[in-house]
Amino acid sequence: TNAIAPTSLPRRRADAMGGPLSPLFYRQPLELVRGEGPWLFARDSTRYLDAYNNVAVIGHAHPAVTRAVGRQLAELNTHSRYLHAGIVDLAERILATMPDPLDTILFTTSGTEANELAWRLATEYTGATAAVIAEHAYHGSSKWLADLSSNEWPAGYRPAHVATFAAPRGDGMTESVGAHRISLAVQSLRTERPALVLADSQFTSEGILDVPGEFVAGLVNGAHAAGALYLADEVQSGYGRSGPQLWRFLLAGVTPDLVTLGKPMGAGYPIGAVVTRREIADVLASRYEYFSTFAATPAAAAAGHAVLDVLTLTGLPDQAVAIGELLRNGLRDLASESKLLGEVRGLGLLAGVDVTSRKAAKALVSELVNQGVLAGNTGPRGDVLKVRPPLVWEERHVALFLAALRRALSAIA
Ligand code: PMP
Repeated sequence: TNAIAPTSLPRRRADAMGGPLSPLFYRQPLELVRGEGPWLFARDSTRYLDAYNNVAVIGHAHPAVTRAVGRQLAELNTHSRYLHAGIVDLAERILATMPDPLDTILFTTSGTEANELAWRLATEYTGATAAVIAEHAYHGSSKWLADLSSNEWPAGYRPAHVATFAAPRGDGMTESVGAHRISLAVQSLRTERPALVLADSQFTSEGILDVPGEFVAGLVNGAHAAGALYLADEVQSGYGRSGPQLWRFLLAGVTPDLVTLGKPMGAGYPIGAVVTRREIADVLASRYEYFSTFAATPAAAAAGHAVLDVLTLTGLPDQAVAIGELLRNGLRDLASESKLLGEVRGLGLLAGVDVTSRKAAKALVSELVNQGVLAGNTGPRGDVLKVRPPLVWEERHVALFLAALRRALSAIA
């Protein structure tokens, strides 16, 4: 608003950092100064329950990460063109969690860069130039990936090399429906052939959908029938979010040609990856080499190990199943009492709740901040309340969240 003083942080940020190009969350932007487990603390000492951040999958400021990264930074942190056991160990450790024949990992620094590299691998391997994505997809912020992010397209914009398929909504989402949707999308590409079909394994930006494994199998078969590779984007859905397994695609019972990882991978220390088959990497290698300065530095690898240590030692992916179930049951109870809430969806510690409108969803999210809870809204129309907390949530955090949501619902009713 106009009342913002010229020296205030929001004003200085807007002036120096592109104004509307990089918007902040919430009507009253938050200045957070500290995090601990599922809690975030603002400059004015207000404590917020984090119901949104998956980068902090093992909780904010986890000592295992700070210690491991701190130790590594104090010893050595450089680019990744030297031998380093920590990096190789991390590569092998992640590959051990992947099904055959996924035997190769290439590190990056972000989800965008991982999808970008996957896209490049697919075009080199297939010799094709087009991609098929879901109707409301988000896969990254580079020029190429903005084209592969239908959710971000300005009105009237549709790149000629990209076709979309309708995400799975409602019943009857069988294998043949999935395959048919890919085939329809491929037919809509006029001159180009598809190199890649890609989808967020949980269809988060589509509104957090319940995704039957058969439908995903149909997407994979549809991709292969069209000569394309299939990429499971696990940037949001991976790292135990759906529990008890680390990767959401495993639940669908499919083996993608490419898997991309990011966000929680280094608990905030930037690291991402593409996992694929050696045969696919070899085609790129026959023409190019791949190197990215900050991709899996020793410190990033230390963060990557710490995240996996905590996830496996503390059983957080198992906990995600039970706590998520509790959360969705509570949400369904609230939805049965409130005219504002509708269907509840999700898997593991992830929930999407239909709200009557985008306006109501935004009002709810704002009121939740007043009630000490940070959540978000998503979906094609922005009318889905998104709950995607750190996996360290316990029963009491679910209770706190539901109580705050109940208060928020009556406040805006
Ligand atoms: N894929 C998905 C499914 C994502 O949600 C995101 C980030 N929101 C990305 C890719 C891009 O990751 P990054 O912001 O790290 O580049």
